[in-house]
Amino acid sequence: MPSPLPGFDDEIKLYPTPVIGVRAFRLQVYGTEIKLSGPLFPNFLWQPGVNTRICYSLGSKGRAPEHDLELCSCGFYAYHHHSGVSERDRSNSMSVIGIIEGSGKVMLGTKGFRANEARISALSMSKYQRFIELDKAVHHYYPDVEFFERPADMYSRYPSSYLDLFYSNL
Ligand SMILES: [Zn+2]
Repeated sequence: MPSPLPGFDDEIKLYPTPVIGVRAFRLQVYGTEIKLSGPLFPNFLWQPGVNTRICYSLGSKGRAPEHDLELCSCGFYAYHHHSGVSERDRSNSMSVIGIIEGSGKVMLGTKGFRANEARISALSMSKYQRFIELDKAVHHYYPDVEFFERPADMYSRYPSSYLDLFYSNL
């Protein structure tokens, strides 16, 4: 099954090195805990540390960790550049932009990558979210994530690995 989002696996298949990318998350409130999901899959909650892909190609209950990334569209998606994140994902008051490090198997495309393992490296929460102290709850659940007040600082601290990866594969 090809990826439903072109640009995430069209260039280099199975790049083995950890790769840095940027993406959006959604804040999900569970009592006093606040966790992060993807914008499209509110039921998939990112765990602290390394997350392992869940395959949905076998149906909503079909967990298939052995499923092949090359044959599927599953995995953790991220853009090479923050301009790839849609306005819809930026403007939502429950949205957070962050950096992930994809590892394990990685498929590389022109817009971004998808990986079968990923961890959240950094997050930049909005002024309003920090004002109402949502950042503290998020940091509590993801203690090893680095927080930035200014997105620009986060992007310069975590530059995309795209050019390195691309040119090393020519
Ligand atoms: Zn799959």
